[in-house]
Amino acid sequence: MSVELLRRLCATPGVPGREEALRELVVAELQDYADDIRIDAMGNVIARRHGTGAQPRTLMLAAHMDEIAFLVRAIHKEGFLYFHPLGGFDPRTLVAQRVKIYGRRVLDGVIGIKATHLTTPEERSKVIPLEELFIDVGLPADEVKELVSIGDPITLERELIEMGNFYTGKALDNRVGLYVMVEAFKRYRQSPDTVYAVATVQEEVGLRGARTAAFGLDPHLGIAIDVTIAADTPGMEEHQYCTRLGHGVAIKLVDSYSISHPALVRFLRQIAEQEAIPHQLEILPRGGTDAAAMQLSRAGIPVCTISIPNRYTHSVVECVHKADVEAAIQLLCRFLERSGEFQG
Ligand SMILES: [Zn+2]
Repeated sequence: MSVELLRRLCATPGVPGREEALRELVVAELQDYADDIRIDAMGNVIARRHGTGAQPRTLMLAAHMDEIAFLVRAIHKEGFLYFHPLGGFDPRTLVAQRVKIYGRRVLDGVIGIKATHLTTPEERSKVIPLEELFIDVGLPADEVKELVSIGDPITLERELIEMGNFYTGKALDNRVGLYVMVEAFKRYRQSPDTVYAVATVQEEVGLRGARTAAFGLDPHLGIAIDVTIAADTPGMEEHQYCTRLGHGVAIKLVDSYSISHPALVRFLRQIAEQEAIPHQLEILPRGGTDAAAMQLSRAGIPVCTISIPNRYTHSVVECVHKADVEAAIQLLCRFLERSGEFQG
């Protein structure tokens, strides 16, 4: 497994609607393995490999490129930046973080916070609303105004590291899913069916790229690859864990936006059992994936999500287990190779 590629995927910015840098990296990684590759009007990357069967069906894989991020909303007279969120942030996770601002050049910044010496006990016990947070880039206002415009993308900053059995860093949602899709697309030997690997845009703001790509491709079935919640930490009861790190790839049954096709779930479980791939079943009480957009495309499409359990989702210390990542790649590879057995 190439941790180097995962590290590059995590370090490359993918602000919703501004996925261009990541798009370039994904195209470079996939092009030698695809019969053709294109970019659609929304900015989705669509790599295709033809099926070898007599009557190939079409399978759509979807892994989103974008990460929760910000745009510059306003520039304070002293040069501080206010920001507009794209995606679901918990403001508690934002104070005292480093960021990067993609202006005329890339600027480093910090989300500042009033020194504890000056705060009242009430201030210390309440969460600062996101609209009041600001970024300091260490430059005078006139220089900031030259380098930064309203609408410039901003990402949180945190390098991916290996920690024990985990990878930890920012944007593992969904760079790890993207990584699983890229690796599986490189590694699967052949499929009777034509495979479209779609690196989608704008998932974090409402599954938008997957929706248009699914309409355009009109696939026979769809598989999303994304992270899911692992709440297997202190303070939670076992029945609330949703998934557990190190217990294998998760096969999604249900989340807020889709119910996985039961025959597809059965097929994925059967593959995992026969190939001895560690796996767990997932019911996610809140959240959704690109599978929901694919499922409701046109007259409806059978879908499932292959999930990678993730602790501390939507923070800069997201954690996934190395063995779960490999299990997800294995399950997706074997699924593509054996898709002819699926008669949903
Ligand atoms: Zn995601």
